[in-house]
Amino acid sequence: MILSQKHPDSHALNTPQKLTLPHRHYRRRRSYRPKKSQNNVNHVMASEEEKKSVFDVESAKEVVKELRASFAAGKTKSYEWRSTQLNAMLKMMEENEPQIVAALRDDLSKPELESSIYEVAMVKSSCRVALKKLKHWIMPEKAKTSLITFPSSAEIVSEPLGVVLVISAWNYPFLLSLDPVIGAIAAGNAVVLKPSEIAPATSLLLARLAADYLDRSCIKVVEGAVPETSALLEQKWDKILYTGNGRVARIVMAAAAKHLTPVVLELGGKCPVIVDSDINLQVATRRIIAGKWGCNNGQACISPDYIITTKSYAQKLVDSFKCELERFYGKNPFESKDLSRIVNSNHFARLSKLLDEDKVSGKIVHGGERDEANLRIAPTILLDVPQDSLIMTEEIFGPLLPIIQVDKLEDSFDVINSSGTKPLAAYLFTNNKKLKEKFVATVSAGGLVVNDTTVHLAEHTLPFGGVGDSGMGAYHGKFSFDTFSHKKAVLYRGFACDAFVRYPPYSRGKLRLLEALFNGSFFSIIRALLGWFKS
Ligand code: NAD
Repeated sequence: MILSQKHPDSHALNTPQKLTLPHRHYRRRRSYRPKKSQNNVNHVMASEEEKKSVFDVESAKEVVKELRASFAAGKTKSYEWRSTQLNAMLKMMEENEPQIVAALRDDLSKPELESSIYEVAMVKSSCRVALKKLKHWIMPEKAKTSLITFPSSAEIVSEPLGVVLVISAWNYPFLLSLDPVIGAIAAGNAVVLKPSEIAPATSLLLARLAADYLDRSCIKVVEGAVPETSALLEQKWDKILYTGNGRVARIVMAAAAKHLTPVVLELGGKCPVIVDSDINLQVATRRIIAGKWGCNNGQACISPDYIITTKSYAQKLVDSFKCELERFYGKNPFESKDLSRIVNSNHFARLSKLLDEDKVSGKIVHGGERDEANLRIAPTILLDVPQDSLIMTEEIFGPLLPIIQVDKLEDSFDVINSSGTKPLAAYLFTNNKKLKEKFVATVSAGGLVVNDTTVHLAEHTLPFGGVGDSGMGAYHGKFSFDTFSHKKAVLYRGFACDAFVRYPPYSRGKLRLLEALFNGSFFSIIRALLGWFKS
């Protein structure tokens, strides 16, 4: 069984010229003024003069130069600076929630509840966690030492990396932009944020708010598309955190390699949901719906991508979906205000292609309706699609949910593992203890959830990130701080107890004693010492 993961997005989708957005004013390219307003990158105004200026490699160089100067001056390193910026971000989110909700409505028709919870409340919560724990995170961590360096003491010092770049995606444009920035600030870095041009209203608002609330000499927002991101990627950064598809991730990683810059890649993939039959079906169905259509209408990296269940249970599951979907979104989901729209016409065409494939179009058992003019696709369930279909070989990233049938539920693990790629998240609904254990032991994914979907994202104590094709590195809570810190090893010694055994002339006795020290066993040290004195 082969399930490969390619991100569906084509590069052409990202160029501003090809953007097809229903709102005329977002088609406008905004500009950058490197010379006249050094500290004003964030203020991307729409005057005629500004429209002419371009953010090119020279502009990117200047931005990095300015931030390096601020970092070198030690501005970002103090606890006071970090906590002031985090508090400012908290205030920014608190004072501008209606504008944020409106921008997300413009970009995605995102329902207010989803915007308020998944974008505003989650960013505020990350700020609060960082503020509460910052003093503790910053403190050097004591480390044990051994006989080898006796007498000594040691600590691990978290030091900021320097100037870092955050490139974010369009689907959760506030959360995916600011959550990494919180980590970068907490760790004491200067940071450039490049929001996604596919969510232009949010990008513009982010730029304006960051300029108004945050320290412009150390935190900048650069708006733009491929040319602007490429200009940024030519610069030397101390870390790049990129969120988006795997194709662009390769471009980011190749650019970073030129400067030996470490990267965190937050990517996607096909997140499977295994559904057993010994469950509370209504609760399971609702939790899958919440993670799929209740998360930006399936346009979320950890949304369920496909379901695996047994042949004998599949129809029951389909019936339950029909019932709960109608309860949540009504008979005509196009009239529901609780579903985001498809982000743009390119993505609408991409999703339509998945549905229109010959071997798939007859497999729709619920939904399937499309409204191209308003970029709406109804929650759609497909049963028994072939594994070599586009819908099963590409990340869906939209409101379509195929169900795969297996003879025994245990076969699900092979379905997932034989895809050759590791998902960002995998879910299992069961009450069977053995199945849970096997799931955790055999399925490799960024994160696993048993009996729910997507909620692990909200736990600050858990690292969020992928593995293999779904990404590398992780963030959230303390993991964000660690991601943007260098863990510096520091060992302290005095001048006493200068072990003569490490110095020439070397001898067999010295070798034995050193081996015994590395061995760490008290008795072998005594034995080596006795042998030494005997010889
Ligand atoms: P996108 O089109 O917004 O692109 C992401 C960023 O890459 C943008 O800032 C864009 O300007 C930049 N970019 C695009 N083309 C580029 C190029 N040629 N060179 C340099 N930069 C370029 O977002 P997307 O890729 O469509 O995002 C969707 C994908 O991201 C899905 O695969 C999804 O699963 C994944 N995703 C992952 C996470 C996560 O946290 N792991 C979160 C959201 C989305």
